[in-house]
Amino acid sequence: MGCNCAKCAVAEKICRLEKGKGPSSCPTKKEGPTLTEALERYDDPEIKEFARAASVQEGSCYTCRDAKPFVMIPTKSRMEELIEFSQRMGYKRLGMAFCGGLTHEASILSEILEKHGFEVIAVSCKVGGIPKERIGIKDEEKIRIGEFEPMCNPIAQAKILNKAGTDFNIMLGLCLGHDSLFLKFVDGLTTVFAVKDRVTGHNPMAALYTSRSYYQRLMKMEFGSQEEEDKGN
Ligand code: SF4
Repeated sequence: MGCNCAKCAVAEKICRLEKGKGPSSCPTKKEGPTLTEALERYDDPEIKEFARAASVQEGSCYTCRDAKPFVMIPTKSRMEELIEFSQRMGYKRLGMAFCGGLTHEASILSEILEKHGFEVIAVSCKVGGIPKERIGIKDEEKIRIGEFEPMCNPIAQAKILNKAGTDFNIMLGLCLGHDSLFLKFVDGLTTVFAVKDRVTGHNPMAALYTSRSYYQRLMKMEFGSQEEEDKGN
């Protein structure tokens, strides 16, 4: 049986406590060789420093850390974290792969980062202006049927940022799937500032938070096959 940490009901978990326990499918108990293999990757000096800085950043996001009992009091937004982490790592040139639908937000993010001394290389997903027909999209599959529509081009976004030699990359609002291609083709380490969610103001967690109330249909609804939906059935 595959593991599912998301459904682990053990109170004193082996992955969180030195003398904790885990269920029979627990990867902390069962995946020794893979865990060792993963751990060895942290011995690469660059990876080690990145992992160390990310964890220092994580700790710095809370206050009153020496209080007993500890009460979690987070203090920093992701925007502040992004600035701090990039400074901590000594990054100068930041790449931004953004969705054309979030151009306004991208310009604000760019302005804030520049105010903090970073050079920003930003590339819109529509870069190249290539019609969607190039990847086999039919007219009736476009957002605006009957019109010219440029394809999202995450591979070009990645390649342009690779060529610019960015120190670190930021994804802003790329579509589901286009984000996957960007990550597949980008060379440098990349963080996500925001993901695309057209309905919730780019906050997909809202659907989870409301899945017992206003979004309960996600739990109950029998979704039709996507192919049938695409056909309008
Ligand atoms: S690693 Fe083991 S103990 Fe930790 S959450 Fe997963 S199954 Fe539970």
